[in-house]
Amino acid sequence: MSSSSSSSCKTIVWFRRDLRIDDNPALAAAAKDNGVFPVYIWCPKEEDQFYPGRVSRWWLKQSLAHLEQSLKSLGSELVLIKTHSTLSALLDCINATGATKVVFNHLYDPVSLVRDHNIKEKLAEAGISVQSYNGDLLYEPWEIYDEKGQAFTTFDAYWDKCLNVQMEPVSLLPPWRLLPVEGTIEKCSIEDLGLENETEKASNALLGRAWSPGWGNADKALTEFIEQNLFDHSTSRLKVGGNSTSLLSPYLHFGELSVRKVFQSARMKQLIWTREHNAQGKESVTLFLKAIGLREYSRYLTFNFPFTHERPLLSNLKYFPWNADTNRFKAWRQGRTGYPLVDAGMRELWATGWIHNRIRVIVSSFAVKFLLLPWRWGMKYFWDTLLDADLECDILGWQYISGSLPDGHELERLDSPQIQGAKFDPEGEYVRQWLPELARMPTEWIHHPWDAPLTVLKVAGVELGLNYPKPVIDIDTAREHLREAIFKMWETEAAAKAATSDGMSEEVFDNSDGIETSPIPKVILKEKSSCPTYSSNDQRVPSFQNGNNGSLHRKRAKLVEEKRLPANKPNNHDKQAGTSRGEELCSTAESSTSKRQSISRMSFSVPQSCSSSDGRLLQEYDSSDTKQSMQEKINMEQTSSKNGK
Ligand SMILES: Cc1cc2nc3c(=O)[nH]c(=O)nc-3n(C[C@H](O)[C@H](O)[C@H](O)COP(=O)(O)OP(=O)(O)OC[C@H]3O[C@@H](n4cnc5c(N)ncnc54)[C@H](O)[C@@H]3O)c2cc1C
Repeated sequence: MSSSSSSSCKTIVWFRRDLRIDDNPALAAAAKDNGVFPVYIWCPKEEDQFYPGRVSRWWLKQSLAHLEQSLKSLGSELVLIKTHSTLSALLDCINATGATKVVFNHLYDPVSLVRDHNIKEKLAEAGISVQSYNGDLLYEPWEIYDEKGQAFTTFDAYWDKCLNVQMEPVSLLPPWRLLPVEGTIEKCSIEDLGLENETEKASNALLGRAWSPGWGNADKALTEFIEQNLFDHSTSRLKVGGNSTSLLSPYLHFGELSVRKVFQSARMKQLIWTREHNAQGKESVTLFLKAIGLREYSRYLTFNFPFTHERPLLSNLKYFPWNADTNRFKAWRQGRTGYPLVDAGMRELWATGWIHNRIRVIVSSFAVKFLLLPWRWGMKYFWDTLLDADLECDILGWQYISGSLPDGHELERLDSPQIQGAKFDPEGEYVRQWLPELARMPTEWIHHPWDAPLTVLKVAGVELGLNYPKPVIDIDTAREHLREAIFKMWETEAAAKAATSDGMSEEVFDNSDGIETSPIPKVILKEKSSCPTYSSNDQRVPSFQNGNNGSLHRKRAKLVEEKRLPANKPNNHDKQAGTSRGEELCSTAESSTSKRQSISRMSFSVPQSCSSSDGRLLQEYDSSDTKQSMQEKINMEQTSSKNGK
């Protein structure tokens, strides 16, 4: 291929969260087309409230450096641009190079969906051909529906369907060379992107000891996990300390690893173990693939129900009387709740930017159920502190624990961190590692020091209320408060419904609306696309899916609504799919403008400043979980615990 032919077709490859060479459909397609101009555009302004946290930005910086080197060795360059508008940066690249085409891989979070769609329209108007590809999922969210063409709202049904669909996607080989396109553009160095502040560098350096970002390292991590840890996964995943899970989440989030490759590698092992009648290996792969399925499902839910970053899938929490107590929020964030397992988890999160899924479930449930903190505060805090901060997975996790999903934990379920500690950290090693002040506590008391005799505390050097806090709330009081809150929620909901049926038509928003100050980006989804470059493998926006299926989504929404109990019947246990009875649940999958407007009023913020925790006494509590079997169905804890770090 001559350089003159390359000048006839120049393609801009817009990298985002697909920072790899291997099995990168957009890059592969562009390389076939001749000249490529790879670009990464950093636009903090557009990130807005989802501006990545310190550790996440650290990862991004390392990963970009890695990609830059790889592209260089293939003969091209990664152009880095810092801008106030992604669209204008792309137009600048087009003007500078004379490129006629822009390619990229799909993203599915509500913010990207809207941005990408708008950019696509604008570029098409400017006569630029735009093509987007599936680089992030096994299946596109618009490919999996039930027999009625409706979106699934339970994971098992969704994953079952996925596993029974003919697996089409095959990993693509990396291009063996790239023909660069020349163009003078105002680019910057990785350092100039400003992903890492000077003050952050010292603490970030520690991250480098534990993690090696970059697609080449992702490949190594995958191979190591598949060859050494996958076999034991079904048992090792239950451990909360150590490295028993795959630890692939940051790589998957930044697209340094192709999920197709992960799936295929694990599946190959499963075929071998099945032939060898190796039940443990087979089961381990099934559980691992289920975890991958949860990631797929997270994108599926936010695509089909894009309001979920602001509002629960089930609308019951709309009336929940959240306790916007910034002191408690601070105690939770700082790991000073007085519950050792929760505090250890929060301190590990702060120190390392990563925690095991089971710990994520425990600390998030504590924030919502014990402290009655708005779940979106917790979601945002995780977003700010996780290395693998991923909007869709974060949303799924918080909705799962807060009674917002038909197959997640019930709102009324309250697990005792003491009992969970005995179960998942039986020797107390995890607590000792992260709470040195409790290091000398005997195992018997380590998860409930408030019950320990004074002599034991003294010998262990623990002074409750001084060097380790007393429990921020005792479990019986927490249970009582949760019960009262749920009751109040039902009352308010019933009153709102009565008012509406009286013709008063009062609009009631999520109770956390009033306590939020800094908004999540507003998402206005388009009813229709006029994008002239739309093609069959192209990115869809929610209003496209299934063609004219707005009514189907409305129906599905009603089904979801019905899965929760009528407001005047305080029983949230019927989780079977019901038939539609006409209650309205607005799915923004339909994206009606009016719905969007009302949803956008529900944006929230997380308080920035708080004071210290209040210390109250605590008692142990054994929660009875009437929904254990339901939990086990979609058990994210199992999934994550199998990943048990
Ligand atoms: C409240 C809460 C918030 C969460 N926030 C995030 C987040 O911001 N980013 C994120 O990547 N994960 C999030 N998770 C999901 C899960 O905890 C992590 O993906 C997992 O712990 C990562 O560890 P691993 O790579 O060793 O996972 P493994 O168990 O080895 O699983 C392999 C991959 O499957 C996916 N996966 C596993 N469990 C889940 C799950 N429950 N939901 C979605 N995907 C899953 C991840 O991509 C993971 O890398 C959250 C879970 C909860 C309960």
